[in-house]
Amino acid sequence: MSFHLTETDIWSLLEQVKDPEIPVLSIVDLGVLREVKFKEGVFDISITPTYTGCPAMNVIEEEIKALLERNNVPCSVHLILSPAWTTDWMTESGKQKLKAYGIAPPQEEGISLNDLFGSPSNIVCPLCNSTHTELISQFGSTACKSLYKCLDCKEPFDYFKCHR
Ligand SMILES: [Zn+2]
Repeated sequence: MSFHLTETDIWSLLEQVKDPEIPVLSIVDLGVLREVKFKEGVFDISITPTYTGCPAMNVIEEEIKALLERNNVPCSVHLILSPAWTTDWMTESGKQKLKAYGIAPPQEEGISLNDLFGSPSNIVCPLCNSTHTELISQFGSTACKSLYKCLDCKEPFDYFKCHR
């Protein structure tokens, strides 16, 4: 069966593997899936971890293997650590899904006085699109996110930190 599958088929199949912390985002949305190469009868899959500190990577690797095994696809998975993952690799549709999920997607952070202290300003509230927001905590529900509060709709929200 695997001989009829192309590398493109594997990319589509791997859309089913979601980030364990953000179940609306697939590893394709995140830009974690880097390469699929068919060689010597095996699909070689390269992934780059989002953050070295994120424990999610083992889970993702196991899920890829389990999914492909279920589909009788022989595969090997390996990690590429360099170049390091950046939020720039997140797809536009990934950012839209993140926002719909209630997490502010990573955004270009302008240079302001706030940036010197590591808290980017003008993060857009995913609920009401206000830029009138403030940083509550550098660390939200996970280290990848920080916690903001919208000063207009008064709701707290997670911001997926820009990372490069
Ligand atoms: Zn708001």
